[in-house]
Amino acid sequence: MDVVKKKRACTNPIVIAALIDLIKEAGGEPVVGESSMIGCDTMSAYEKSGLKEICEEKNVPFIDFNSCEMMHISLPKGIFIKEIVVPKEIFTFDKIVSVPVLKTHLLTGVTLGLKNMKGMQSGDEKIKLHSAGIKELHIGIVDINTDFSNGKIRPDLVVIDGSYGQEGEGPIGGDVVKMDVIIAGTDVVATDATACRVMGINPYGIEHIKMAWERGLGEIENIQILGEKIEDVAKKFSYPYHGFKKLKYAFYELGTMIVFKLKGTTEEERVYKIFTNILRTKPKITSKCKKCKKCVSICPHQAISFSNKAKINYEKCVGCMICVEGCPYHAIAMSSIPILKATKEMVIAILRAGIKAILGKL
Ligand code: SF4
Ligand code: SF4
Repeated sequence: MDVVKKKRACTNPIVIAALIDLIKEAGGEPVVGESSMIGCDTMSAYEKSGLKEICEEKNVPFIDFNSCEMMHISLPKGIFIKEIVVPKEIFTFDKIVSVPVLKTHLLTGVTLGLKNMKGMQSGDEKIKLHSAGIKELHIGIVDINTDFSNGKIRPDLVVIDGSYGQEGEGPIGGDVVKMDVIIAGTDVVATDATACRVMGINPYGIEHIKMAWERGLGEIENIQILGEKIEDVAKKFSYPYHGFKKLKYAFYELGTMIVFKLKGTTEEERVYKIFTNILRTKPKITSKCKKCKKCVSICPHQAISFSNKAKINYEKCVGCMICVEGCPYHAIAMSSIPILKATKEMVIAILRAGIKAILGKL
């Protein structure tokens, strides 16, 4: 978790401390809540991130949402998911303030206010959103936010912590960018769109932000900016999908989509193997591995085991990439496309053989 702290993956406790003070000044009684990612213990993250110290110093209660009693909320406007399971506790609050970090994300481009609401779900429910590929993940993020229409779990304020941002292959393995900026708003789509512009990213290029806007959940264009001008605080963040990586993600998406569509049919196993072996981008454990074994508990499909080293069982792996997202040392990468890798190796072998033959004749 030290890595997570250094990587600024979690919300800066100083920002939470300032919010606690502001809420108290306004006559409110703040409560801090968190639900950590799959495979991580919320209370341990609470302690190691420095949040515990702040809550104790300010005498503010902390709730581990993962250990609360859960309730099912239907999402009549949901397209990919029709209901979510969230902690009962959240219905006892008068107001909700959502405080994500300013980050790019290897699967969804960015992870800001809209995606932060995914964190309200119980652990198992979070996995469902990853089961059908990137497109469905984007749709599911927007589905969760459609509950805003009846206000049950609506954040009244989104405060994006840009004290430090994270660029590249976030949400854990990216690189830290010192920004010293806070982006806050009551319209989550507008706040996310503004945060994108601060990172030099086109908000229309982030599918869940564009879809949320198309589905009437907020604004991308007509935004009143108070405080600093965007151009005075903006920094160009490196983006996860660029160059050759775009192709890798496209194959990942295609493979996941086909496997998901065929799930439960007799064809599934056969097609799955074809895609896994020749086409599909897979997770791959790299030499950066520090043997912390975290990935064993992170993988929701028990596809990673550890004896002397971490090993992925590709027969069990469904390609959700939760391990890529969750490895604290960024040691699990999305492999290059096997068929292209094989083609490249073949071309190199032919060239080598050709050069050898020419040299042999000289
Ligand atoms: S791959 Fe990552 S999570 Fe798994 S053992 Fe190695 S460092 Fe730990
Ligand atoms: S090993 Fe496969 S199934 Fe397990 S988390 Fe990684 S991508 Fe998902």
